[in-house]
Amino acid sequence: MLSGKTALVTGSTSGIGLGIARSLAEQGANILFNGFGDAIAIEKLYQDVGVEFGVETAHHNADMSKPAEIAAMFAFAQDKFGGVDVLVNNAGIQHVANIEDFPAERWDAVIAINLSSAFHTTRLALPGMKQKNWGRIINLASVHGLVGSAQKSAYVAAKHGLVGLTKVTALETAQTGVTCNAICPGWVLTPLVQKQVDDRAAKEGLGNDAAKKALLAEKQPSGEFVTPEELGALAVFFCSPAGAQVRGVAWNMDGGWTAQ
Ligand code: NAD
Repeated sequence: MLSGKTALVTGSTSGIGLGIARSLAEQGANILFNGFGDAIAIEKLYQDVGVEFGVETAHHNADMSKPAEIAAMFAFAQDKFGGVDVLVNNAGIQHVANIEDFPAERWDAVIAINLSSAFHTTRLALPGMKQKNWGRIINLASVHGLVGSAQKSAYVAAKHGLVGLTKVTALETAQTGVTCNAICPGWVLTPLVQKQVDDRAAKEGLGNDAAKKALLAEKQPSGEFVTPEELGALAVFFCSPAGAQVRGVAWNMDGGWTAQ
């Protein structure tokens, strides 16, 4: 379905981004990976995905908090693949603290990586997408783009902002073949969440499994984690012809979190 198209998935060396990149590659898209990690492991990762799905892959290590590096990544995408057809704004970080204890530089980092980076990638991707009259922008927001949780001020503010940016992008592209939508996952067991499981286990003297159960029981009625593969399938739907008139939604996949 996506052969001949190129997807840039930010923060795709791990977790949800990697799951979505694999799902798009399975549909035939070439993938430009982005994200941090061990250089040798990353090279193996993108080459393995290329071989497994028979697509072209590459990696660019732009720091998504730095607009000049984001611009360099788009120049690379233009040279290597002729542009970006599917943009998945996924890179994100978390910091957990009460507002009065929240370090100002962590606030700035969360807003830069989780929100402002999506503005920069979107403004760079739109001219090429509009010219081809086809494009898909998928913003990885969160249930925290729809509801709040204590101690996550920067993250919740960034994710609500990302849902807002999604709506404006969808309106500005409404009469074109470009769509923009947000995905709002509940808990997904990735390194970002494992850190919160570890913190909880340490604080409450729990084992790993008990801490996971406690985390889920608090917010996610299903008692199950959402998986990167399930999120990848939703991203594929947004890219499909049937998704052409899905515009500006914030689609939760959250085990019932926001139904409460
Ligand atoms: P993760 O920690 O597993 O992966 C984050 C990715 O972002 C990694 O590839 C990392 O290298 C990259 N990254 C971090 N800082 C970066 C930077 N400055 N520049 C470039 N890349 C950077 O996290 P995840 O859980 O897979 O989260 C992915 C997205 O999904 C995030 O936006 C997160 O907020 C969102 N999300 C996660 C959950 C969850 O439960 N895990 C729930 C809702 C939303």
